[in-house]
Amino acid sequence: MSDMGDGTRCVHAGLPEPEPGQPFLPGPVFAAPYHLDPFQGPSAAPNGYGRPDNPTRRLLEAAIGELEGGDCRVFASGQAAITGLLLTVLRPGDTVVLPTDGYFPVRAFATDVLAELGVRVRYAPTVGPYPALDGVRLVLVETPANPGLDVVDVAALAHQAHAAGALLAVDNTTATPLGQRPLDLGADLVVASGTKALTGHSDLLLGYLASRSAKLLDALTGWRNLTGAIPGPFDAWLAHRSLATLDLRLARQTANAAAVAALLAGRTDVTGLRWPGRPEDPAYPVASAQMRRMPGVLSFDLGDADRVGRFVDAARLVVAATSFGGLHTTADRRAQWGDDTAPGFVRLSCGVEDTADLAADIAAALDASGPAD
Ligand SMILES: *Cc1c(COP(=O)(O)O)cnc(C)c1O
Repeated sequence: MSDMGDGTRCVHAGLPEPEPGQPFLPGPVFAAPYHLDPFQGPSAAPNGYGRPDNPTRRLLEAAIGELEGGDCRVFASGQAAITGLLLTVLRPGDTVVLPTDGYFPVRAFATDVLAELGVRVRYAPTVGPYPALDGVRLVLVETPANPGLDVVDVAALAHQAHAAGALLAVDNTTATPLGQRPLDLGADLVVASGTKALTGHSDLLLGYLASRSAKLLDALTGWRNLTGAIPGPFDAWLAHRSLATLDLRLARQTANAAAVAALLAGRTDVTGLRWPGRPEDPAYPVASAQMRRMPGVLSFDLGDADRVGRFVDAARLVVAATSFGGLHTTADRRAQWGDDTAPGFVRLSCGVEDTADLAADIAAALDASGPAD
């Protein structure tokens, strides 16, 4: 299916060959131990114990791997995948470069754990400038970055990293593999949260890593097996079921984000609008060249915390929630979680509601909430 369109690839991703009497997507296999062959033991069949082996998980990994264009390993959450990557690749004395403006628990992990282990941590804003990468072991970027939505030219940074002997990992959470394929752009690794748009129903946590390097995959698989950061079979199955509609969900989310961005751009009571799909956005030149579609997430500032509260309270179709990429439109005032955004900064994640309904509701809620005090 690799020669076909996004919708076709999503519907078929990771499914077994059709077999009469069998479902399209086999149901979750619940097992801690499996029956073993009494003579040959675990060498006789693929499944021996649930931590290293689960057939439901393997089908999901095949599906995400097809979409990313590499081999995939799923983890219990995005954070489990990211920390698994960092702890597998980095050793005391190594240097890692992390984004200043990315997912903030990654910075917290660097301060609380990596620095304690003797890993040198350097920071660079997503848009750059990046430090000289000589002596750096790993560069981790997020593009578009959550929550500020800046982007970085992955191919150019991969070139710079490889010239210096560093690995490049790209957090693909916001874009999803339909938005961009970092491995095609030269990244060594993709890491992502599947909790967000990838699965999109706000009902599970998931993370994954993808790569074309057998050596890296072996090390990451070994790490996962020894630390046990696996998703359960039911979550893996739910995630796989949700992947079939990824193309449809993203299409509506992107259309909704475009309409909401156009609406917000025309208002004087909204500042700091960011959406990489707007030609006026500073991220647009790189995003439009590098990405195949734009995310359903945008960010802006409503001036102060109380106005954000009034706006969400007045809206019928926007609910207050963290996370993003789901079916329902959500707004998150990031500062309430202790990250370093301004008090009125909002990350808005457009759901799959009708575009006209959503735009009208957001316009009315902005009017009703009045300007910031
Ligand atoms: C949410 C998120 C994560 C962490 O994923 P979880 O599934 O919540 O652990 C990592 N990176 C980015 C960009 C995210 O948005």
